[in-house]
This record gives sequence, structure tokens and C-alpha cells, in this order.
Amino acid sequence: MSEIKSIGVVGAGQMGRGIAQVAAMSGYNVLVFDISEEGLKFGLDFITKQLKRGVDKGKWDESFVGEVEGRLSGITDMSVLKDCDLLIEAATENKKIKFEIFKQLDEVAKDGAILATNTSSISITEIAAVTKRPESVAGMHFMNPVPVMKLVETITGLETSKETIDTVEAVSEKMGKTVVRADDVAGFAVNRILMPMINEAFYTLFEGVADAKGIDNAMKLGCNQPMGPFELADFIGLDTCLAIMEVLHEGLGDTKYRPCPLLKKYVTAGRFGRKVGKGVYEY
Ligand code: NAD
Repeated sequence: MSEIKSIGVVGAGQMGRGIAQVAAMSGYNVLVFDISEEGLKFGLDFITKQLKRGVDKGKWDESFVGEVEGRLSGITDMSVLKDCDLLIEAATENKKIKFEIFKQLDEVAKDGAILATNTSSISITEIAAVTKRPESVAGMHFMNPVPVMKLVETITGLETSKETIDTVEAVSEKMGKTVVRADDVAGFAVNRILMPMINEAFYTLFEGVADAKGIDNAMKLGCNQPMGPFELADFIGLDTCLAIMEVLHEGLGDTKYRPCPLLKKYVTAGRFGRKVGKGVYEY
């Protein structure tokens, strides 16, 4: 297994900032890269607030926060990632963007560095194929919010080596997570099940079976789900939900994965969910 000391996180959005926070709290040196300076600043400020909130709640003390902040830096120049042992990509769920990032990371990253992706649905084998090191590429699918959710779904691409998958699983465990390994099939395990449920909730709303609040209450009170499907979709991001449904539809070829026109309409209107203050609900 490779020894991992430093981690580079690509993308400082909802997931990237969470992964960076937990990695730094677990003792890794962490560099966070984003193409957007504004996005990077927002992500780093968010981590600072989360760390401070932990002090206020008595979860850890100021000196721990100082150590964690000392291990964490933000960058907008990708070449600085050259010394990282492991790179975890958590940029926007879009094939074109991810393929471009992996081509660049393959150029920048040192020999032997592992390239992982937090993609929710895009094929690890396809992402690996744009690099010259497919054996060192794996899926490392964290859940949202990363500091709270215990699961990391790891995914092996066709060429992923045993050393690579063992290493990302060891890192996930050091970050306090429980690993479930999934095969590289569209949606893997979690989103193969979750996203069709969310998509069906949109069809249920679209067909006027019940209103949004009613559907959320039905699933919370009737099925013991902690969040209703629309609350969860707004939390994940409707743009991300739609992107995953499109990958399932294209990858599995079954019409049962057809994205609901209402979900598409919300995304077209820019109602991406909580992160923009407006999704199925307004915040
Ligand atoms: P987000 O929209 O909150 O953040 C995406 C970030 O990527 C933004 O800060 C953006 O500036 C940055 N970005 C875009 N292009 C980039 C590039 N070329 N280089 C560097 N940064 C770039 O999205 P998110 O919810 O954090 O999702 C990120 C990834 O995590 C996606 O692949 C998504 O499918 C996956 N994921 C999301 C969730 C969830 O609940 N939101 C859960 C698990 C996995």
C-alpha cells in the first residue's frame, strides 16, 4: 500500500470543502484547489466556521483548530498539487469537466500519486482512460455532509490496481469512514437506488399525486426517512441530481431512468437547491 501524507482536493464546493476539512482533521496535509477564486474563498471560510462551531459545541479545542488550519491551504494554481500523494477530485458533476481535470492532474501529479474521484455516477473506467495511469485511478464517493456521513463508497475501474483501491480504503478509514466497495456500473450502489427514488418523487409531484410537502411528509412519516426526497434533492443540488439521472439513463439504457421533465425545468430555471437559496423549496 502507498503511504499517503498529503492530499490535494480539486473543487471547494459542498463536497470538496467537507473532504478537505475531514482530511486535515485526520492528520493529512491538505491543499484545496478551485478554478473559482470566489468558490475557494467561500469553501475555506465555510471550513473555518465549521471548526469554530465545533469549539463552541465543545467537540474540540482552539489548539486543535490551529493544528488543522496549519495543515490546510487553498490554491488556484493547479501545478502546486505536484507533491500530493493522493488527489481527490470533487468538481462539478459533468463528464467534460472531469475528463479535462483528469488530463491536467495526470500531467501535474508526481509519479506514483493516486487520482481519486468523488463522482456520484460517472464511470471510473472512462475517467481513468483519459490518463496514462489508469491503474492509479479509483472512485472515492463521500456522502454529504462529509463531516457527518459515515460512508465512503469506493469504486474500482477496470484497470484499478489492488494497491490503489487498498490505499484509498485505508485513507477513508483513517478519515473515520466505513467503506462499501462497489463495481463500476453507472450510479454505483448508492445512487443506483437513491436517484431513481428522487426522480420518481418529481414524477409524483409532476402528475399531481400530492404536493411537495405532502410527498416529503409521506416518506418521512410513512417510511421513516430522516429527510423527504425533495428536502434531500435540494440539499444534494438539483443540478447534481439531474446529471446523475442522465448518466443512469445513458449508461443503463432503460427508460425507467428517464429524468423527470419537472426536475429538468427546475434546473433550467437555475433552481439548483439550497446552495443557491432556491430549489423545490425557497430558503
Ligand atoms: P458544487 O457545485 O457544490 O461544487 C463544485 C465545485 O467545483 C465549485 O466550487 C466549482 O467552482 C468547482 N469546479 C468546477 N470546475 C472546476 C475545475 N475545472 N477545476 C476545479 N474546480 C472546479 O458541487 P458538489 O455538490 O460539491 O459536487 C461535487 C462532486 O461531488 C460531484 O461530482 C458530485 O456528483 C459529487 N457528490 C455530490 C454529493 C452531494 O450531495 N452534493 C454527494 C456525493 C458526491
